[in-house]
Amino acid sequence: MTRRAASVDALQIRFWGVRGSTCASGPQFVEFGGHTPCVEVRCGERLFILDAGTGLSALGASLGAAAPAKVDILLSHLHLDHVSGLPFFKPALLGKDRVVRTYCGNLDGESAKASLDRLYSPPLFPIRLEQLPTRFEHHGFKAGETLTFDDGISVGTHPLNHPGGATGFRFHHRGRSVCYISDVEHSDPWPDQGLAAFIRNADLMIYDGMFSDTEYSHCQGWGHSTWQKGVELAQAAGVKALAIFHLYPGHDDAFLKAAEKEMQAVMPTAFIARERQGIALAPAREAVADRMQAAKVPAI
Ligand SMILES: [Zn+2]
Ligand SMILES: [Zn+2]
Repeated sequence: MTRRAASVDALQIRFWGVRGSTCASGPQFVEFGGHTPCVEVRCGERLFILDAGTGLSALGASLGAAAPAKVDILLSHLHLDHVSGLPFFKPALLGKDRVVRTYCGNLDGESAKASLDRLYSPPLFPIRLEQLPTRFEHHGFKAGETLTFDDGISVGTHPLNHPGGATGFRFHHRGRSVCYISDVEHSDPWPDQGLAAFIRNADLMIYDGMFSDTEYSHCQGWGHSTWQKGVELAQAAGVKALAIFHLYPGHDDAFLKAAEKEMQAVMPTAFIARERQGIALAPAREAVADRMQAAKVPAI
């Protein structure tokens, strides 16, 4: 795939892994893909990475040496399907002058470093992350706080109902917004008012729709939701488009295409996320007008 030049204006996302729990592989999984969660977010040229599932290795291969010297990876939580790509992120192998910063909340007092050190050490893994050429920095936060980065960009966070907790994120850029809500189990009553307020009027919500409502009765308490609950939440909160994500590894292309058709009958702007699919949200007209006014250019 040829990497396009990042637009200085658009809010862009690209899916590098859309499966939940574990990978899927085989000819029946080609359209939606098999990697576990990883999403590239670009606020103009500024790169953020959401989750470090196996899709991170594909994103790293695509970025190569063009990756920024400092890469920020925002982790929804530390379950294996969200961190198993970390040691295979190519930019982390390129040199000592690079930094990979992880951000993770909801750790019950334990830092992401302690948890990741436990995972990435013998006998589970041959080396520790700190033995890779890049420098890793791990930052903790409490879900609900706003993360502010050294270039002034801020990202909203929100606690999600998931075993051990997970964090949702909200990005704003040039009048557009994208929310990442994975992993989450819906509550009763639904929609949850706090979550609805967090995602309100977003242009796009990426949502954990691992199961269908029919399947959910067998999976209650597992920490995941359904595409039907995603549609309910999106519609209640005025979200313009919905991407169903964290797909069940047993759902093949035929199943997912049929589910997408059913879903689009209820919400035409909803779709099921496909690996390597990219979406660019052009600046909102009001944001362009604001900038023109700031630059004293007459609006037409
Ligand atoms: Zn997961
Ligand atoms: Zn999880």
